[in-house]
Amino acid sequence: MVDIVIKEGKIVTPTDIYEADIGIKDGKIVEIARNIEAKAEQVIDASGKYVLPGAIDPHTHMELPFMGTTSADDFEAGTIAAAFGGVTTIIDFAIQPKGKSFMDTIEIWRGKADPKVVIDYSLHVAVTDLNEERMAELSKVLDYGVTSFKLFMPYRKEGLMSDDGRLYAMLDASREHRFLVQVHAENAPVLEYLVEKFLREGKKTPEYHALSRPNFVEGEAIQRAIYLAHATNGNLYIVHMSTKEGLVAVAESLNKGFPIYAETFPHYLVLTEEKYYGPDGRHYVMSPPLRSRADIEVLWKGLASEKIVTVGSDHCPFNSEQKAMGKDDFTKIPNGVPGTEVIIPILYSEGVRRDIITINQLVKFTSYNVAKLFGLYPRKGTIAVGADADITILDPNYEMELSVENLHTKIDYSIYDGMKVKGVPTTTICRGKPIVLNREFVGKKGEGQFIPRSRFTGL
Ligand SMILES: [Zn+2]
Repeated sequence: MVDIVIKEGKIVTPTDIYEADIGIKDGKIVEIARNIEAKAEQVIDASGKYVLPGAIDPHTHMELPFMGTTSADDFEAGTIAAAFGGVTTIIDFAIQPKGKSFMDTIEIWRGKADPKVVIDYSLHVAVTDLNEERMAELSKVLDYGVTSFKLFMPYRKEGLMSDDGRLYAMLDASREHRFLVQVHAENAPVLEYLVEKFLREGKKTPEYHALSRPNFVEGEAIQRAIYLAHATNGNLYIVHMSTKEGLVAVAESLNKGFPIYAETFPHYLVLTEEKYYGPDGRHYVMSPPLRSRADIEVLWKGLASEKIVTVGSDHCPFNSEQKAMGKDDFTKIPNGVPGTEVIIPILYSEGVRRDIITINQLVKFTSYNVAKLFGLYPRKGTIAVGADADITILDPNYEMELSVENLHTKIDYSIYDGMKVKGVPTTTICRGKPIVLNREFVGKKGEGQFIPRSRFTGL
């Protein structure tokens, strides 16, 4: 007797597609076979559909206090949206408050997340206050199961920035202690100079957000971070890469045989900087900003050639009232957009359907690679006997407009309004429990778990 049998779906792994049934018991996959005869409490028919390992969104900011407000999706709303997008685990950023230890930071974030999450989650620490005491704390944090640390190269005035010395120190430590250093790569002094210049000239409309962060601002910072990674032999992951300049720098390192792990997001794959000139320009303000059509094409090529290895979301939505805080000054617009629910629909519809990437690659970018890099594999990131039963059933014929009515983020607009996708997750199962069943939410607040992660071992 098993709890659930998923019948006749096409199972997708990084290398294969094959038709089989999946038996689930006590939250684990217990059998994969052509025809499972065992009695099941629940049978889910997946005929004509793809069965994928649950997506792991490596980059979210639920209920994040930022720029004088808090992102609009709390851990409940945000993980419900994620589940509708086929995501079964998020890795959120616990942002270190000044003066707090890393362990205190993790406790603060667990206090917010544990009672609310409907799917599993883990945490990265976003480092803002690095000193000798914190460096000495690293082993404890790694043993606890947090094995990745983000450093901000910009946000000097906001008090989040790590200078090159601190970035060097963390990259150096990452080799010995086996963790991953994530960087938000933008050149702080240059972008600050441009912001101040535009403000002085009275240029305060949303397009100046993008114009103050031109491609080279990201490209230079990525090159610098890679240079420091080479110097230390450190483990470097570039979060939210948005430019062709960034990809060129990553590709150069890969050609030398030195791995650099790059991540991008759905909004950088389909939206362009023209959005900043529209009436709702401020709704599209995030950092780094949207880029050109040429950058979009290069990012898709980066995925096709697997120079970019993960696709997350940077899910950090603000409603129109919050975005209006910056209606007269682009520097006061809270930075962030939703995205966790559209990772798979956009990758499938715009990537797989158009033959730019394969569905096996989609599984790598959204699940397998993320699990490998962030220490969740083989518990998650795969469909195999013994793994957690984290499963996404994708209906390749399900058509949907990415409108405010169809999406589950709490905000009152959609940055994708009017865009149609074909190929949408219809059922999402986390540790053997259906969270979304045939597009109905059947999960429960607080049923997701904090998942400790193992140390970095590469891809
Ligand atoms: Zn982010």
